Amino acid sequence: MDMTNLYRHIIMDHYKNPRHKGLKGYKQNHLRNPSCGDDITIEANIEDKVLKEINHEGTGCSICCSSASIMSELLTGKSVEEAKAIIEDYYHLIKGEPLVNEDILEDALAYQGVSQFPARIKCATISWKALEELIGENIE
Ligand code: ZN
Repeated sequence: MDMTNLYRHIIMDHYKNPRHKGLKGYKQNHLRNPSCGDDITIEANIEDKVLKEINHEGTGCSICCSSASIMSELLTGKSVEEAKAIIEDYYHLIKGEPLVNEDILEDALAYQGVSQFPARIKCATISWKALEELIGENIE
């Protein structure tokens, strides 16, 4: 299996079997991407500067919905500082820029092809922006 197929498989797996889907009533942030129809709500339970739990709910394209799942899985249990570093590197990935630390992105590396499709950048980043705003500091 080449990397393109592997990444497509990861994205479709999270699209069809989303992890952390369903809101439980923590602090929420709702963002929409009208150009694609993505409509996503992210919630986070942040205690002692740790992301104890992240959940998502919404509708949208496969890139948007799968990235909400992958982000929730990847950032749950991370400290706010770790999450910020991962979010920052994810934005570098999506823009096709050099990464500070490739290893921390894990399954999120599946979106590296998005940099070649500028129209999809919002789809791939909307969930991450929603969480970034929840964390409370714009690091882009
Ligand atoms: Zn989309």
